[in-house]
Amino acid sequence: MVMDYSTRLRTAAQNTEDLRTRELALNLAAVHERIDGAVEAAGRTDRPELIVVTKFFPAADVVRLHKLGVCHIGENKDQEAAAKAAEVGQLEQLHWHFIGQLQTNKAKSVARYAHAVHSVDREKLARALDSAVVLAVEEGVRSTPVQVLLQVDLRQPLPEDQRGGASPEDLLRLAGAVAESEYLQLTGLMAVAPLETAPEPAFKRLSQLSSSLSERHPQATEISAGMSQDLEAAVRYGATRLRIGRDVLGERPDP
Ligand SMILES: *Cc1c(COP(=O)(O)O)cnc(C)c1O
Repeated sequence: MVMDYSTRLRTAAQNTEDLRTRELALNLAAVHERIDGAVEAAGRTDRPELIVVTKFFPAADVVRLHKLGVCHIGENKDQEAAAKAAEVGQLEQLHWHFIGQLQTNKAKSVARYAHAVHSVDREKLARALDSAVVLAVEEGVRSTPVQVLLQVDLRQPLPEDQRGGASPEDLLRLAGAVAESEYLQLTGLMAVAPLETAPEPAFKRLSQLSSSLSERHPQATEISAGMSQDLEAAVRYGATRLRIGRDVLGERPDP
């Protein structure tokens, strides 16, 4: 059997002199063990992909994570992400995932470095992002489409503030707009579990919404859900991409 992620990471932790690398390796090992446990408990045969969310932490940590085998990095603010992506430069197989609220005027910047945008929640943003990717391709900054996950707001009843994603009723229309675009690849759904309630019912609903989306768009099967505190529940309800920050990087400073 090949050595599993957590064994390899614990070995890497033993073999490094850099204290921060050691800390990250041990944290990553613990997260991978939790994922393994959750996958087994859910009786799943596939394993969700880990996206390590590095917001508030320096580019040097991204480089350390990459050396430990992390290929997927999540960021939620364009200014911070763009600077970090520039500082880190081209690293083999490193993919940036944009997971935060996105204003249309930032689409141009995001299109230059993002492999995936998990937070598309309105047609106007989808159109802006598509044009931005076309431009980035013309400029030779990228050659591939951007993966798009539609962010859905799972709060019930749905507040008017429009901060947590598209309403479930709007998803199919939004998906249609993304699917028709030139350089966006409709990939799936993303959600954050509502703060006030248990995550399970929300993730269950997300999984149902995902089924109806992929009936119409068979390629759009990814489910981006699960953070440090609710990864087990997300895995149980079919998450294929987990976005984990603090349990790998440590506590963030209070904003
Ligand atoms: C910060 C963030 C995460 C990671 O959350 P942790 O609690 O640090 O694991 C996941 N998703 C989104 C959208 C985030 O902004």
